[in-house]
Amino acid sequence: MASASSDAKLSKRYNAEEIERKWLERWDDSLYRFKEEDVAAGKPPYIIDTPPPYPTGDFHIGNALNWCYIDFIARYKRMRGYAVLFPQGWDCHGLPTEVKVEETHGISKRAVSKQEFRRLCSELTRKNIAAMKEMMIRLGFSIDWSREFVTMHDDYKKYTQRSFLRMFRSGEIYRAEHPVNWCPRCETAIAFAEVEYEERSALLNYIRFKIVQSGEEAEKEDVGVAEESPEYVEIATTRPELLASCVAVAVHPEDERYKHLIGSTLEVPIFHQKVKVFADSAVDPSFGTGVVMICTFGDRQDVRWWKAHRLPLRASIDERGRMTHIAGKYAGMNVEECKKKIIEDLKKQGLLVKQERIKQSVGVCWRCKTPIEIISAKQWFVRVHKEKVKEAARKIKWHPEHFRLRLENWVDSMEWDWCISRQRIFGVPIPVWYCKRCGAVKLPSEDELPVDPTTQKPSSRCEKCGSDEFIPEEDVLDTWMDSSLSALWVAGWNYEGDFKPVQLRPQGHDIIRTWAFYTILRCLSLTGKIPWEMILINGMVLGEDGFKMSKSRNNIISPEEVVAKHGADAFRQWAALGGAVGSDVQFRWKDVVAAERFLQKLWSILRFSLIHLADYKPLPVEKVNLKAIDKWLLAKLSALVASVTEDMEKFKFDEALKRIKAFAWGTLADDYIEIAKSRLYGDSKSGEEGRNAARFALFETMKTLSLLIAPFMPFFAEEMHERLLRSKGLGARSVHAERWPDAKTPVEISEDDVREGEIIAEIVRSVRRLKAQRGIPLNKPLRKIEIFCEFPIDVEDIENATATPVEVKRGKSMESIEEKMNKEGESHGNTAEIAVGDAVRAFVYF
Ligand SMILES: [Zn+2]
Ligand SMILES: [Zn+2]
Repeated sequence: MASASSDAKLSKRYNAEEIERKWLERWDDSLYRFKEEDVAAGKPPYIIDTPPPYPTGDFHIGNALNWCYIDFIARYKRMRGYAVLFPQGWDCHGLPTEVKVEETHGISKRAVSKQEFRRLCSELTRKNIAAMKEMMIRLGFSIDWSREFVTMHDDYKKYTQRSFLRMFRSGEIYRAEHPVNWCPRCETAIAFAEVEYEERSALLNYIRFKIVQSGEEAEKEDVGVAEESPEYVEIATTRPELLASCVAVAVHPEDERYKHLIGSTLEVPIFHQKVKVFADSAVDPSFGTGVVMICTFGDRQDVRWWKAHRLPLRASIDERGRMTHIAGKYAGMNVEECKKKIIEDLKKQGLLVKQERIKQSVGVCWRCKTPIEIISAKQWFVRVHKEKVKEAARKIKWHPEHFRLRLENWVDSMEWDWCISRQRIFGVPIPVWYCKRCGAVKLPSEDELPVDPTTQKPSSRCEKCGSDEFIPEEDVLDTWMDSSLSALWVAGWNYEGDFKPVQLRPQGHDIIRTWAFYTILRCLSLTGKIPWEMILINGMVLGEDGFKMSKSRNNIISPEEVVAKHGADAFRQWAALGGAVGSDVQFRWKDVVAAERFLQKLWSILRFSLIHLADYKPLPVEKVNLKAIDKWLLAKLSALVASVTEDMEKFKFDEALKRIKAFAWGTLADDYIEIAKSRLYGDSKSGEEGRNAARFALFETMKTLSLLIAPFMPFFAEEMHERLLRSKGLGARSVHAERWPDAKTPVEISEDDVREGEIIAEIVRSVRRLKAQRGIPLNKPLRKIEIFCEFPIDVEDIENATATPVEVKRGKSMESIEEKMNKEGESHGNTAEIAVGDAVRAFVYF
């Protein structure tokens, strides 16, 4: 038997490294290719708006978890007959790469030309993409690499610039002077979503402001100032360096302490500008003294007051975080120096009453943790339509559902439109020039894209004044302007015709306020449609210590490390079993070890099965005389397929894999194989007929199992499929080209069949347990087993599996075991009773 000798080559130990490497080499990528013709031929599309990761070079464990989920879905849907598109993009532009380039080359972005700096950024990005891609391939993700997209490539840049032109023309993008969040270290405007809040300690300074005109005096508008004894009001602030920017003072309208101050004029210490006091219910009377100075701009509340009360603008901090000329003798100092100096001067002048240390939430730059400033500048904005975005979010199915609220809360908290211009280099250029003579905005035509206005000139004159001299826009676009188009890009929408929402957006909960929000906003603006039918949110990966992974905690685990030790299939099982999708998942080595043990168990089952199935040719079911336990196995298998299918539909990967494991380990290996073993070896009463029945059930089960595990353990499943089917010239060219199994059993199986099988399994289990408890070898025959049962029961398998003769007695035995054994003269220690439900009792004679 030729095939038997090849099966003999199966080593006892499952070598994941060797088998996974083998399939990585052999797999044909075209298997995962999305084909338009399949959709045209009626296959339903399943398009996934895969996250384009930022190419840091490190495909970290959090990415790996998310991509495992995506791959489980992609493989499952493909087997369900969908035309699946699992593309992969790379979101290249942005600050971290610029910073990395500056570090590695020891240069500042100003030291080389923009072109050269961009070249260095692209070079680093390419290298990083290659490293991350290698890990994605190693983990066995079924990505359609023919659909790879790279946002720094011309085709995508063109796509992004085109969206800019479209949204500018429809009025959804505009340029305006407006306060923006600004990082003085990175020297760029940033969006709200890029501001992080940190608890920091600060000094609260109580400063005296001179009252130059009281509220009553102001009303009367009569004579001059009381010179003799100046009156003061105390104001507490953590930012005395902003005194030069102070444009007003506010108190709460109901604050009795300060009612007399409303309408009065104060003189700002050191800088001497006069400011008015007004009442506003947004003032917190319990903070500091209950009097607040309003500066342009200390925080977001200042911006609100500045707008509401139409206050003047006094900018004392510039783009590089230095004091402007408004700050007088402090001009040119950085914020910290200025703060120190002003406090000293206030002390000298006797205007600093006291200082208190307080904890404060400070907005910092997401990239460098420098406290952000709010400065007013001419920037480009995308209009945020809060209600429309929230309404669209409700049309999308969220899984888990509660994350939709996170988006809604975020939208509600936004104070102004999305600032999209960045004063950086590595980004998509804003495709705009300004006419030197009349200032009009000059746009390129769509077929000229992509353009870089800093190196290219417009192809025509100014439409307004006819001038041919232009000033290029130097700013680039926020990188989210690129990635928020991913759904449109992967759907193949080309700014023409109808856009159909794609089926799935998978992403982490940490980027709901950015990627999810921006994508919905942009898709609505450009197409009037929602981007996706469903959004699936994944949690974060925590370290073994239960904390967020971080360098300082030294608890970072890389997928490389796990895969090198235990293989990709084990890693993927950890991802599936770690918890429900959406919850944070803890990494635990013991889970990966358990996963490896399961692969070893499956391998042992496969080895055993192959010995018995080596010369097996699948038989038509009519030719097989299945025994009760065979039918019981097939019924259990069918129930497994039904439940796992339901779990997969609901993204319950943990439940699905738990069920598969319990079935393979318990039902198949511990119960069925032990019971049917003798028939498989052909040394049972029923001979060839009994053997064929067991082989039929075993083959059906193994084949189905290879399909059920395919989304989770693609390598092992392929090996199983190869050895069970392909080696006999059966099945599709790969397990991943097979159809998902049907829950229908190959023969009609009645409830009585299943009950009979369950009784057989339970008796065998119990006898084996009793033998183990008494230290009796499992293959050692006992005297007999007596079964009382109201219906016929097949004893062949029980006798084989227990190596003990079985007597079946019809009817119910009402005696207690003591009465029965006393009557029979048996010593009590030599017998035991087994109860299977109400209907069956069995007595074991040792
Ligand atoms: Zn920064
Ligand atoms: Zn002009």
